Amino acid sequence: MQKSTDVRDALQKDEAHLWHSMKPFNPEATIIAEEAKGAWISDANGKKYLDGMAGLWCVNAGYGRTELAEAAYEQLKKLAYFPLTQSHLPAIQLSEKLNDMLGGDYVIFFSNSGSEANETAFKIARQYHQQTGSHERYKIISRYRAYHGNTMGSLAATGQAQRKYKYEPLAPGFIHVPPPDTYRYPEDENAAPAELKSVQAIDQTMTWELSETIAAMIMEPIITGGGILMPPESYMKGVKEVCKKHGALLIVDEVICGFGRTGKAFGFMNYGVKPDIITMAKGITSAYLPLSATAVKKEIYEAFKGTEEYDYFRHVNTFGGNPAACALALKNIEIFENEKLFERSNEVGGQMKSELTSRLQHNRYVGSVRGKGLLIGIELVESKVTKKPLDAGLVNKVMAGCKEKGLIIGKNGATVAGYNNVLAISPPLNLEEEDAVFIVDTVVGELNGIA
Ligand code: PLP
Repeated sequence: MQKSTDVRDALQKDEAHLWHSMKPFNPEATIIAEEAKGAWISDANGKKYLDGMAGLWCVNAGYGRTELAEAAYEQLKKLAYFPLTQSHLPAIQLSEKLNDMLGGDYVIFFSNSGSEANETAFKIARQYHQQTGSHERYKIISRYRAYHGNTMGSLAATGQAQRKYKYEPLAPGFIHVPPPDTYRYPEDENAAPAELKSVQAIDQTMTWELSETIAAMIMEPIITGGGILMPPESYMKGVKEVCKKHGALLIVDEVICGFGRTGKAFGFMNYGVKPDIITMAKGITSAYLPLSATAVKKEIYEAFKGTEEYDYFRHVNTFGGNPAACALALKNIEIFENEKLFERSNEVGGQMKSELTSRLQHNRYVGSVRGKGLLIGIELVESKVTKKPLDAGLVNKVMAGCKEKGLIIGKNGATVAGYNNVLAISPPLNLEEEDAVFIVDTVVGELNGIA
């Protein structure tokens, strides 16, 4: 049988049976991936693509790691499942390892996805305040343009109206504040924490909403899906101070920023702040198996150790912390350490960013090249003076041109409803030098082609 016949058949069956995330089915654009190694995937036609998004910002250790498959296989043979209402060794070892990576002082609750990790964090924050006598504290503050997941609570925390309005009403008690953005507000870049407008807005919101009703604030270290928005260096410190002032917990969503994406183990480590709760998923297993975690400061955990039945955390997750996923995560972290992939992210990402910056500085549509580590955004604007987002047609043309040449990149932003004018580059952390050159050359070529 001809390979092309197989592909046509697969596409027809795909259209008949498979409901895809986000986009309506489009046979022209659909890649049926068959195998992958390093940063490269091959589709069913045998065409190769460099996956410049590491899947959905998640295959941090790269594709084709047989040692990860083996770690899961060995564990599945030994103990495939046991609930974490009791315990098992891979979960114990992984929680100890994560606590070490976080600098100590945390206990870990396992789930399966980033959305669930955030739901868990919200419930812990609310119950913690109940247990410690603050019965009115239920509100969660988050930022416009941030994405925190697809479930009712994590979507309520999400600050992108166009993703939400068809499903409302969502969970009550979520309040949004404007995000920091040093591209649109460059004067913020070197300001002291308390002088930042974006920090003052949180302080005012918590005051106006009544401090005694605020349970927590959730934030990513760098807003990723909302356009790779760089905060001023002092922003996170300012947020932490404001949370402390109002008695709110600080939840940091490391679902994308964690596990080396920004050049450090966790994104918050760039900003000298210790969060109360940290959520993580994606890179924890490099997406080889589903797993997520909610790391909680010990002093918060201690409040759940009362003697009454209702003092416990009434939150069960059947699959969370599956033994094979935990064993795989431990091996994945060993790879990060042995191959120094967090440092590599910093180094290669830094080189790519400066190459892109210098080669695109005269491109009329490139407003900003930004990011940390291997998290890079290129904001495309109609005019560098007005900073109006570039027309979607041109952004799509660049994406399609890259794909044609064998490079997958992302676009996001949520700047205006329906608009995604920020190109995203977030490849596996172990990409080769020539892969990095290929990404830069291809993106620069396509952008100069439309300018
Ligand atoms: N938080 C952030 C920052 C994310 O980007 C995502 C997903 O992309 C999530 C949470 C939700 O993770 P999941 O899709 O695993 O539920």
